[in-house]
Amino acid sequence: MGDTQMRYLVSGGAGFIGSNLVRQLCKDGHKVLIVDNLITGRYSNIVDLAVNSRVEFIEHDIVESFEPGHIDGVYHLASIGSVYQYLKNPIEAMRVDSLGTENMLELARRKECRLFLASSSKIYGISEVHPQKEDYWGYVNPIGMRSVYDESKRYAEAVTMAYRRKYGVDVGIARIFNTFGPYMVPGDGRVIPNFITQGLTGEPFTIYGDGSQTRSFCYVDDTIRALIKLMESGYEGPINIGNPEEFSIKDLADIISDLVGVSKIYEYLALPDDDPPKRKPDISLVKSLLGWKPEIPLKEGLERTIRWFRKELQ
Ligand code: UDP
Repeated sequence: MGDTQMRYLVSGGAGFIGSNLVRQLCKDGHKVLIVDNLITGRYSNIVDLAVNSRVEFIEHDIVESFEPGHIDGVYHLASIGSVYQYLKNPIEAMRVDSLGTENMLELARRKECRLFLASSSKIYGISEVHPQKEDYWGYVNPIGMRSVYDESKRYAEAVTMAYRRKYGVDVGIARIFNTFGPYMVPGDGRVIPNFITQGLTGEPFTIYGDGSQTRSFCYVDDTIRALIKLMESGYEGPINIGNPEEFSIKDLADIISDLVGVSKIYEYLALPDDDPPKRKPDISLVKSLLGWKPEIPLKEGLERTIRWFRKELQ
């Protein structure tokens, strides 16, 4: 599959992960149809690709069906992933992961092509096991603040498996853990863009709770390599994709303030409800099945991201 030119539909292709994926697919010689309603994705993330004759863009909400022409595969990444954004747009967040996912599955069924689903580590919720392995079913508050995202991703996985079982649709489900890099929206509410933006604009870093909660951050180039490997395999998943190096949020603030070169001025704010105290992927499955592991350490990824944010904020 790797050497043949494909035409891929990328839903959410103007978003952070989506636009990085589209760039790589273009480098690999494929054609791409980006479908994005720009609710959180940004046209500026893909504007440089407009000159590329292999890239097409439709501004469209995948909750409504549409006809994309011939496609060889669907990368379904459209979603509202930042806590700040999905609390602001809770119904849209649920509709894109539920109705939007169904529409993408219907397309894959009609076009008889493979569908990649970008699921999330959030399906594990406030995990009782650490690190999280694919066979753990999760512990999610069904009516909590985060449920609009967590439960919708759980539904997206369920409906994807239903299409697999009922109609034999070829699917690959990835559970993506915290990822970061260029093309994130500065200050979009997620911790890395928040801290970098705060550092570069001379504001205090906002640490929620005491900063002892942990996350594991994967640089986006590593994430994209894994997504493409999963798409090009016949593997169904779900499969964890992330970097198992674990850091507390306070450690992350220290690292980013050192890299940006600012003093450590921290403002401690209340911890949001249902904020998981720990998150770290077990990646033994992706290592053995796809031969993938992350290669870019946190500091190197942060340096690249800070360079991009400096330009972006100018
Ligand atoms: N966080 C923080 N300050 C911020 C933004 C986030 O301390 O300005 C914390 C947040 O409470 C969480 C962690 O950083 O514990 C990661 O948050 P993010 O929204 O990036 O991802 P998620 O919680 O969905 O993993």
